[in-house]
This record gives sequence, C-alpha cells and structure tokens, in this order.
Amino acid sequence: MPEQRTRRMPVLAQDSSVRRDDGGILTASVSVPWEGLGGGPAGHRVQVIDYDATTDTMYAPAEVGDGDVPDPADDTEILGDPAFHARNVYALAMRTLARFEYALGRRVSWCFSAHQLKVLPHAFQEMNSFYSREAQSLVFGYYHRGDEPVFMCLSHDIVVHETTHALVDGLRSRFMAPSSADQAAFHEGFADIVALLSVFSLGEVLYKLIARGPEIPDKDGVIPRSAVTAESLKQSVLLGLADDMDAESGAARVNALRRSVGLDPDPNVLERIEFGEPHRRGEILVAATMRAFVDAWIRRLEAPEATMTDFIEVRRVVEEGADVASTLLTMAIRALDYTPPVHLEFGDFLSAIITADSEIRSEDTKYGLRQGLLDWFAAYGIRPASGRDDGRWDPSGFQLASEGVHFGSLQTDPVEMFRLVWANRAELNLAPSAYTRIASLRPCIRTSPDDGLPLHETVAECLQYVKIRASELSLYGLDKPLGMPDATEIALEGGSTLILDDYGRLKYEVHNRLPDPDREKDVDRAQRRLQSLWEQGHFDQGASFAARLAMMHRLRAGEPTVPRNEVW
Ligand SMILES: [Zn+2]
Repeated sequence: MPEQRTRRMPVLAQDSSVRRDDGGILTASVSVPWEGLGGGPAGHRVQVIDYDATTDTMYAPAEVGDGDVPDPADDTEILGDPAFHARNVYALAMRTLARFEYALGRRVSWCFSAHQLKVLPHAFQEMNSFYSREAQSLVFGYYHRGDEPVFMCLSHDIVVHETTHALVDGLRSRFMAPSSADQAAFHEGFADIVALLSVFSLGEVLYKLIARGPEIPDKDGVIPRSAVTAESLKQSVLLGLADDMDAESGAARVNALRRSVGLDPDPNVLERIEFGEPHRRGEILVAATMRAFVDAWIRRLEAPEATMTDFIEVRRVVEEGADVASTLLTMAIRALDYTPPVHLEFGDFLSAIITADSEIRSEDTKYGLRQGLLDWFAAYGIRPASGRDDGRWDPSGFQLASEGVHFGSLQTDPVEMFRLVWANRAELNLAPSAYTRIASLRPCIRTSPDDGLPLHETVAECLQYVKIRASELSLYGLDKPLGMPDATEIALEGGSTLILDDYGRLKYEVHNRLPDPDREKDVDRAQRRLQSLWEQGHFDQGASFAARLAMMHRLRAGEPTVPRNEVW
C-alpha cells in the first residue's frame, strides 16, 4: 500500500473553452482521496462506466496507476481521449464527495443502498446531463458543434452540479419530493452554488479571470487597490466566468449565471411570477450567496493585516478569493445537517447555515460571512426562518427524558434513537397516530478552527407521514383547495432534525411538523404548499423522481419537454 493519503489528478479548470494566455485549455491539479483503483476508474464510491447508448459502444476502462496522475500531454488528449474524460469525471466527483465528507465530519452515503455511484461520461448524444436515483448514476451527454464533438463531462461546473444533486439526495432524500416552490429551487440553486465555489476555489481560474486586464503583467504583479472593488470582482470574476464558459454546451447554465449576477436586490423578488419556476427561483439563492462571497473577499483584501498601500499583489487577491470560496463552500455544506428533513424553504437554509457555522467557528470577524449572508439574503427578501435577528435557530428549550436509553447505541442504532423519540413524543409535538420513523442517524466529528478540538454531534432525522383524503384536511387545520375532489388522496409529511451533543443532550430541534390546528405557523406553511401543488397539477400525475429531474434539466437546456425513457 502506498503511504500517500491523497492523489493528484489533472482536471479541466472549467471547460474546454476557458483557455490560458497561450491558447491551451486551462487545467488544474486537484487532490482526491487515495484508493487503489480498478479500471474505469472504479473506486469504492464512484465507478466510471464508459458506455455510449447512442452508438452502443463500450469504451475501454481508463487505468490509473498508484501514484499521481500526470498532466495531459496536449489539448488533443484532453478533447480526444475517452480515458482522460473518464478520469476527469472521477476526479471531480470524488473531490466533491471529499469536500462534503470533510465539511460534515463523517462518511456521506448515496440515497440508494449501493455503495458505488455509477458515472457515464459519454452516455448519449444529447445536450443533457443529469443525476438519476433510479439508475444510481450520473449521466453526461455529448453533442456536435459542426464536426467537433463537445463533451459535457469536461465541464467542471456541470460535473460538480450533478454530483451535488446525488450528495444532497443522499443527505436529505425528501428534498426532491414535491413541496414548496423553494424546495424544488433549492436543489438547483444549491448545486449551482457548490459548482461555482468549487471552480472559484481553484486559484488557476481566479488568476485567469482577474488577470484579464492589460495592466496586469503576471502572477507576481500588482494591481491598483482602486481596481479591486466588489463591482469589479463581480464583473471580472463572476460575469467573466460566464463570458468564458462554453455558451453552447449549456446556453441555459451560462445565462443562469449571468442572470444571477445581474439580478438586482429586490425584497419582493420571490413573489414575482417568473421566479416561481424552480431554476429561476434557484438563481435568487445563487445571487444572494455569490454577493456575500464577493463582499467577504473584499473584506479580506481590506483586512487590517494587509499592507495599506495603493497597490495589491495579484497573488494575494487570488489566494484570498480561493480561501473565501472554500470557507463558504464548507459553511453551505454544513448547513444541510441543520435543515429540517422535509419541506425546506430558503429561510430554513439561512438559519441552518448561520447556526451550523456558529457552532464550530465562534468568531466570524475574519470573513464576516454570517452577517454578509444575513444582509444579502434579506436584500432578496429571504429572512431567517428562526425569526431571530442573529439568524440562528433557537436552542432546544427542553431536554429529552432518556430513561432506559443507552447513549452509546443512540449514536448508531436507529431503534435506540426511535425509543428516545417515542418516549418524548409529547415534547417533540409528534402526532401519535402518524407513521413515524428515524430516516437517518449520523454521528459526526468536526474540527473547530478556533481551538483545533473536535466537536462531536449526532444528527437524526425523524419523519412523520399520514395519508388522508381531501375531505379530512380540516382535521389538520387545512382548507381544501377550490375544486379539489373530496376523494383526492393526500400525503402529509412532517419531521424534525434532532442535533445532539456528545453527551446525548438535545442542542437543536429543527422542525417542520405535521400541520395541527393548534399551531398556526405549521398550518400556514402546509396550506401554501398544498395550494401550490394543487395549482401545479401535482395531484394529477405520478411523475417519477428521475422523470422530474430529467425534465427540469431539459427545460433548462431549452429543449422540448418530451419525456425520454431511460436507456441503460
Ligand atoms: Zn440540476
């Protein structure tokens, strides 16, 4: 066994249209966890299978030796060698998985029982790529521009976006279920945020985008401080990336980035009709987060320890930007553990990101990211769901009676956790007649940057479910939407995320409970969801998860919405 714990692999920094000054494709070297790889590459979490359904071709599995993977010889290898494509998707999917595991302080599993996510880099000839839970796969299409093939598996942001769908689905399986407009938008907006921050955490890309101006000689050069402002970084880095990205390989995603950056703050934007569509609504989340990113970056460049001269080193601008991108990425991923298990709204995510970060980083003076997120989300009409000025969730106001429960088992045994939950069902406001289960139980260890000490937590998702007819809605305080037949079957879901400390004490209970006539807030939210699902015609169709996701991506690619059958 080699002693190295990581392996360096070359990947495309963004896509084949983002070039170096000499015209060559811009690549970067990333670090992924070391493992002995089979042909494919096939690792213990990600298995590349290079089958092309359009041409019925099985490409030879790519081999990876024990050491670091050398850079590609030239652009011909990058564009023309299927084995390079296979290694590129493997490296980006594994890097994204490793980022999630680092941020969450534990292993992260997929939504399905298999341990390996299959990745098909040349799945079919179509301008489409998506994650399929049913096929346990990420599939990437390709298409032709003139005689030249364009491979979507070579777009850094697309690969990370699809991998993020798979990871979020593994962490919160109910977030793909029909719910509020926010929840559908969250999957898309969050995947875009992770993709963008993944690209920006590569110094190579930031340098290339910042160094466009003719006045910048080289990496060791300096630029006037006056040229580095939030507005200039927005233009050069955020819009610059959109300008450079291969518009054809996803005109929609390039436009989405451009629209997100150009979306002016408006506290009423969520109410606008056009932002009811999931991708457009997701752009609001991207806009608020990326503005907080740029502000924190500027804050670092103006930090007191910086030498206050009229010029600033390009290297420093790049390093600070990559550091802020990486920090914000970790915060965004950690937030997932602090979200309710069902019916997520943007305000829940905001409270989750602030609380999760506050638990591990006591001070936010270095980046000012928590306040920045609160301010920018507010500018787009998103208020923390906790209702508190500091955005944090309220700490649990009670302790769970733990009589007879073994704390040791509590961290790993769902039955023991269910015993604890059931014993405390009154305090947790669980509806005793509903079907109740522990959907996940995850012990985690995160390291605090404050003192380097480990923070132990156990995160449990408790879900409740009842199936009723429309005529019974009033029992839950809900009004039947106008025109809904009495016999319509409706599934109501509620749930709590319980966060326990290392002594088994309840720190937070983050919930969206089943509606109850005595709890106005839960009823209000449930009524809005019910109304919106009814208006969208949800109760008429049983569209599968894969069909919905594929459909959403096809809508984004601007293609006709003809459902396509899975072909592998
Ligand atoms: Zn997507």
